[in-house]
Amino acid sequence: MKSYLGIDIGAGSIKASLVDTGGNILKQTSRNTGVETTEKEFLDSLVNIVSELEDSSLVAVGIGSPGPIDTENGILIESANLPLLKDVALVAHLKKNFKLPVYYNNDANLAALGEFRFGLGKGSGNLMILTLGTGLGGGWVYQGKLFNGYRGSGMEAGHVTYLPGGSLCGCGQRGCTEAYFSASGFLNRYRETSGAQLSGAEEFFEKVRTADRIATTLLNEGIDALSQLCRTLIHTVNPEKIVFTGGLVKSWDLYGDVLKEKIHGLVFPIFRTYTQILPGGNVAGALGAAALCMENHE
Ligand SMILES: [Zn+2]
Repeated sequence: MKSYLGIDIGAGSIKASLVDTGGNILKQTSRNTGVETTEKEFLDSLVNIVSELEDSSLVAVGIGSPGPIDTENGILIESANLPLLKDVALVAHLKKNFKLPVYYNNDANLAALGEFRFGLGKGSGNLMILTLGTGLGGGWVYQGKLFNGYRGSGMEAGHVTYLPGGSLCGCGQRGCTEAYFSASGFLNRYRETSGAQLSGAEEFFEKVRTADRIATTLLNEGIDALSQLCRTLIHTVNPEKIVFTGGLVKSWDLYGDVLKEKIHGLVFPIFRTYTQILPGGNVAGALGAAALCMENHE
């Protein structure tokens, strides 16, 4: 029997699962992280996790984290939620401590692989994933393979322009789709419009539920932006499915139907007949990271 170790570096914790080739979880563990986490503590946590979960069946380790990352050299360049980390060579560190192959990619790409192996995109020949969370990420699995781009930074779909010169995005540019449909985008725009700082995306969607005028307007504009992005993707890569993942999918009932309707109104009639637009996101990040090992070991 072979097993794979998937490690998901998230906002407040590192979660890890040892899984078999069918994606069944054999063992799990986690470590807490936060704004105070130093590079040494971070690397020690990763080593401890592998030591805790490894057994004789383990053939590879897969790691996912938010970007920007350098997949070619296995480096976490920086992370908004772990501000003390800069240019951390985590793959080299693990390879030095364990005689195992280590694979590393960004969390949106791993969400795509996770949905392709274990979720709504299972077996799809052309699967597009959009992650709706703090930011807006993209991942594309085409004919069973993850699309990485030239050096691992492909499918940064959140930074496709919606409105030239529009709202400021976290990337420093203006008018990106992410500035209109993401937790950070909604909160920034709500603050700019009303002066009020909301606690998070849940409070934003709660305001939509109670018919707050500003929140409703911002969500509608967000739906416009997201539907334009889907239009671009549908016409460029002709996906079989677009699956949405990430924390904002919890509020799908507030925008999913309108989003689908708008996308249908923007694409060639033929695409309306078969392109599936689906809320997913039930595949854990650690499973997506394990799927990265599977992609490299079959
Ligand atoms: Zn941007």
